[in-house]
Amino acid sequence: MKCSRCKEPAFVKIKRHNASFCESCFELFFSRQVEGAIKRYQMFGKEEKILLGASGGKDSMALWHYLQHAGYTVQAIHFDLGIGEHSSISRQIVEEFAQAHCFSLLVISVKDLLGGTIPELAKKARHRSTCSFCGLVKRYLLNRFAFEKGFTVYATGHNLDDEAATLLGNVLHWQTGYLTHQSPSLPSPHPKMLRKVKPFYTLTEEEIRIYVKLKNLPFVEDRCPLSHRAKSLDYKEVLQLLEEKSPGTKHAFLFGFLEKAKPLFPAENIVLQECQICGMPTTQTTCSFCKIMQKVRAKEENSCTS
Ligand code: SF4
Ligand SMILES: [Zn+2]
Ligand SMILES: [Zn+2]
Repeated sequence: MKCSRCKEPAFVKIKRHNASFCESCFELFFSRQVEGAIKRYQMFGKEEKILLGASGGKDSMALWHYLQHAGYTVQAIHFDLGIGEHSSISRQIVEEFAQAHCFSLLVISVKDLLGGTIPELAKKARHRSTCSFCGLVKRYLLNRFAFEKGFTVYATGHNLDDEAATLLGNVLHWQTGYLTHQSPSLPSPHPKMLRKVKPFYTLTEEEIRIYVKLKNLPFVEDRCPLSHRAKSLDYKEVLQLLEEKSPGTKHAFLFGFLEKAKPLFPAENIVLQECQICGMPTTQTTCSFCKIMQKVRAKEENSCTS
C-alpha cells in the first residue's frame, strides 16, 4: 500500500477519503482537517487565549497536544469530580502530561470547592440523576471560572462520530430545540458565558485514535463508571454499520445537516438575566446552580442539627 500523496509506503488507509497515508502525510491530512474547521467557523486565532476542557480522554488529549504544537495559546482545565478511581486516574494522567510538556493546566477539585464529591453532593441535592447534576455543576463552574479569568472561547474534543450520533438522536426524537444548537461553533448567549467550539468535528474517532497512537499520547481508556450505557453509543454503532457499507455516510449525514437543514431551525430568542445570588446568567431569578446548592446546604444543616 502506497501513500496517495507522496507514494512512499503508507501505514494507514482512510476509506471515507479513499486515501492511504504515510506518517507525515497523515499528519498533514489531520492538520488540514483541524485548520479547515477552525477557519470555516472562525473558531479562534493564534493570539486568542483558548480554554480547553481536558478530561483525560483521547479526544481532549489529542486536541490539547495538537493546538499546543500548532502554536495556539491554550489553558487546559480539568475537573476532578471525585468519582472514585476514575477521577484520580484521569487527574493523574492530565497532570503528568501537562508537566512533561510544560503545558498550562488548572485543576478544579469539586470536593475542595464545594465541600463534597459529585456523587456526595448529588445525593444531598436529591437530584434526578447524578449525570445531570454533574453536567449542571461543570457547566456552571466552567462559565464562572472563564468569566473571572477573562476567557471567551472554550474548545472541546468532540469528533465527527460524536456529532453524527447526537444528530441522529435529535432527529429520531425531533428535538428541534437541540437541532437549533447543534453546531461546531456556538456563539456566546451572554457576556458571562463562553463561546463553544469543536475543532475536531470533521475527524472521526478512528482518525483521532491514529493521531494519539502516532504521538504516543497517554489517555484514560475507561469511561466514567456512572455513565450507564448511553443511548449515544447505540447511535454510534448504527452509524458505524452504515459507514462500513458505504464509507462517508457519517460525514454526509452531519455535513448535509449543517449545510442544508440547520437553517430551517433558527435560534430561539432566550432572554437571560443575572442570578440574584451569584450574578451568573439565568432564565430565572435564581440560577439552577444556586438553587441546587441551597438544597445541599439545607440538607447539611439538617443533618448537623438532627
Ligand atoms: S458520565 Fe455522568 S457523572 Fe460521569 S463525568 Fe459524565 S456527566 Fe459526570
Ligand atoms: Zn506520504
Ligand atoms: Zn446563581
